Amino acid sequence: MTEHSMPLPTYDDVAAAAQRLSGVAHHTPVMRCTAIDEQLGAKLFFKCENLQRTGAFKFRGAYNALAQFTDAQREGGVLTFSAGNHAQAIALSARLLDMPALIVMPEDAATSKMAATRDYGAQVVTYNRHTEDREAISRQLARERGMTLVPPFDHPHVIAGQGTAALELLQEVPDLDYLFVCLGGGGLLAGSLLAAQALAPQCKVIGVEPATANDAQQSLRAGHIVTIDHPQTIADGAQTQSLGVLTYPIIRDHVEDIITVSDEQLIQALRVFAGRMKITVEPTGALAFAGVQAFSGEDTGAKLLHGERVGVIVSGGNVDLARYSRFLAD
Ligand SMILES: *Cc1c(COP(=O)(O)O)cnc(C)c1O
Repeated sequence: MTEHSMPLPTYDDVAAAAQRLSGVAHHTPVMRCTAIDEQLGAKLFFKCENLQRTGAFKFRGAYNALAQFTDAQREGGVLTFSAGNHAQAIALSARLLDMPALIVMPEDAATSKMAATRDYGAQVVTYNRHTEDREAISRQLARERGMTLVPPFDHPHVIAGQGTAALELLQEVPDLDYLFVCLGGGGLLAGSLLAAQALAPQCKVIGVEPATANDAQQSLRAGHIVTIDHPQTIADGAQTQSLGVLTYPIIRDHVEDIITVSDEQLIQALRVFAGRMKITVEPTGALAFAGVQAFSGEDTGAKLLHGERVGVIVSGGNVDLARYSRFLAD
C-alpha cells in the first residue's frame, strides 16, 4: 500500500498511539518560566520534547508505526531515509521491538549522526545526495530486502504518534487559547491538530516555519502543495521540500495560521532557552517559541497574546555542540 491510498488518521488513532507509547516513551515535562511570562504578558506552557527519548518527538511516531507491524513485517525489518532525528527514532524503536533497521543517509551526513544511528543498532547505507534520489533508492532497497519503509512524516501511524505530545500537553493544561507547533513535513503539526480538535476545540493552533522554508505557508495560500527545492536555514529539521499528501489536507482544514521566523530570531530563542530556562534546544526545536515571540508583537507594542494561555511544543534538543556554542556566543 502506498501513502496515497492510506486513509487520513483521526483523533482515535492519536489516542490509540498514546496507549502504545505508555511506559515506552517519556511523558515529557511541561515547563513554565516566570521571566518569559512577564515579558510577554502571557502564560506559556513549554512541552519539552527535547527531553524525549532520542532527543526529539520523532520517537513517538516511529515507535507507533513499528509497533503496528505484522509478524512478517517485523521479520523483514524497517527501512527509512533520514539524516536526522527520524533515523535515530527508527533505530531505537526497531531495537526495542527487536527487528532489523536500515537507514539511508547522505554520504556527507555528520559522522556523529551516523554513529548515533549505528549505536542504536541500525545499519546505515549512504548515497550521494547530488546525483541520487533517496526515495527511489529506499524503495528499491525495501523491495530487494523485504523491508517496510516508514517515511519521516507522511504516514498515518507516524502522524498519530507525533500527535501524542500535544495530547499529553492538552490533558495536563486543557484550557489553552493557543498552541504553537513547528513544522517541516507537517507530521507533528497534523498530529497536534487532531489532538487539539478533539481535546480543546477552542484552542487556536499556529504552525511556525523558517522564513526561507515557508513552503507550507505558500501551500495554504496557493491551495495546493508548493515545493521549495533547497531551503536554506539553520533549522535543519524543517528543511523538507514540501508537505505530504496526508499532512497537507489535515493542516489546510484545521490550522489557524502558519507564520514564519528568521534564523536570527531562532538564535535569539536558543539563547533564551539556554539562559533563562537552562535547557538545550536545537534550532528547529526553537521555531515554535520564536513564533510566539514574533506573533506576540511584544516589540511593536501590539501584545497580541496578552493574558492568553499559550502552549509551545519544544520539538527537539539534538545539537552539534561546536555549532550550538557558536550560536550562543556571538
Ligand atoms: C522532524 C522535526 C521537526 C519537523 O517535523 P515534521 O513532522 O516534519 O513537521 C521539527 N523539529 C524537530 C526537532 C524535528 O526532528
